Amino acid sequence: MEKRENKTEVIVVGGGPAGISCAVTIARAGKQVVLIERGRFSGSKNVFGGAIYAQPTREIFPDFEKTAPLERKNIEHKFALLGEDDATVISYKKKHENPVSYTVVRGKFDRWMAEQAKKEGVILVEETVVRELIIENGFVKGVKTELEDYYADIVVLADGVNSLLAKQAGLRGELSPEDVALSVKEVIKLPAEVINERFHVNADEGCIYEIFGGPMLGMLGLGFMYTNKSSVSIGLGVTLSELIDRGIKPYDLLDKLKKHPEIAPLIKDGELLEYSAHLIPEGGYKKIPLIFGAGVMVCGDAAMFVNNMHWEGTNLAMISGKIAGETAVIALGKQDFSENALSHYQEELENSFIIKDLRTYKDLMSGVQERVGEFLGYYPKKINSFFEMFTSVDSVPKKEKYHKFIKSIFTDRKISDLFKDAWSAVKLLWSILK
Ligand SMILES: Cc1cc2nc3c(=O)[nH]c(=O)nc-3n(C[C@H](O)[C@H](O)[C@H](O)COP(=O)(O)OP(=O)(O)OC[C@H]3O[C@@H](n4cnc5c(N)ncnc54)[C@H](O)[C@@H]3O)c2cc1C
Repeated sequence: MEKRENKTEVIVVGGGPAGISCAVTIARAGKQVVLIERGRFSGSKNVFGGAIYAQPTREIFPDFEKTAPLERKNIEHKFALLGEDDATVISYKKKHENPVSYTVVRGKFDRWMAEQAKKEGVILVEETVVRELIIENGFVKGVKTELEDYYADIVVLADGVNSLLAKQAGLRGELSPEDVALSVKEVIKLPAEVINERFHVNADEGCIYEIFGGPMLGMLGLGFMYTNKSSVSIGLGVTLSELIDRGIKPYDLLDKLKKHPEIAPLIKDGELLEYSAHLIPEGGYKKIPLIFGAGVMVCGDAAMFVNNMHWEGTNLAMISGKIAGETAVIALGKQDFSENALSHYQEELENSFIIKDLRTYKDLMSGVQERVGEFLGYYPKKINSFFEMFTSVDSVPKKEKYHKFIKSIFTDRKISDLFKDAWSAVKLLWSILK
């Protein structure tokens, strides 16, 4: 082992779900690990919807349900297709014996995870920004903070979507506006009983809304709503390139979403507690950067590990962090920190749900982007107008209404365009299922 001052075995940069999971895995194997977080505490700088997923969280903290600060266990998933002033809502509800997900407040939950990691031997350094990596002869050897330089055999980058450090290591380039969504979110305070009544849940139960259309009609964007104990998180994310091209401010979209007749009654008379904005990786499989090099690995959002089809990010962060941690432990055992030794991380990820799922959806974003106006604009509107027609009672014979509706499809769009839409949809489906 190299003898240097301020030298440890592993430095993990970023105290989010990826970094904490990585650090605790290393500490449990009896190795030295320093976790550096720039925020006042872990979670103080994090923004998300959001729900954490129980099974992957149990893989890192098996008993988390007993002591972690959880808001509500989610029992209902609603998919709301908003038109301009109407909505079609599909709901799936089940009270699982083992809940699938919980809403959490990241400021509390990440802090709790970091405290557990500390108890298990992780050296946690907060309020410290890593400015740059120390790279010697192509090997990452440590990090520079505003105060000191720290050296390590391995540096794990879990510094989130912007990862300037992965860029400095030459593992990835500049983020492109097509590959990230800009997400804005508000937390709205409401009494717990009001939330229970409006969302039809019991005291510890929660409801998730995934929102399509509305102010985002025709755009590559989605909205969300999550119930916390006594607040509701509402937000949306739209591809950054789309916002730039159309000159739209995301807060204007969020304002409109909050006023939509399907949404407004749910948050009526609520008090705005906080608002925030954050980027979400959107590029998927095709935009995964290099995730390992000599003396370095990248995990979580920094590696663009987000499955935006399923709103999954924290689970990919936790499990990629765990796999990076396990790889670091093996490398420490062999005292081999070369690129070749750390390629084990990539191999293990390939065998995990992370790369498999991202590969499944590899053509999704480009496929939807190609026909975004149709898939996220025209057809959602048409579904709502179908239900408007179907539920209207106005003494017009039903057959006449059906014919009128079908005719409207052919007058709105050329037959050749309808074929192109159908072909794109089949291609997309095939790219997922093949
Ligand atoms: C609006 C929104 C809603 C979301 N909803 C969900 C959801 O419901 N469910 C879900 O699973 N995922 C959701 N996600 C995604 C999820 O939040 C991320 O995938 C997850 O937080 C990634 O974890 P991470 O540890 O990789 O990165 P982060 O959580 O971003 O953590 C990175 C950490 O690194 C620190 N850091 C950065 N740079 C430095 C530096 N130079 N020095 C020291 N520290 C540094 C930061 O302060 C931060 O604490 C959502 C994201 C957004 C934006």
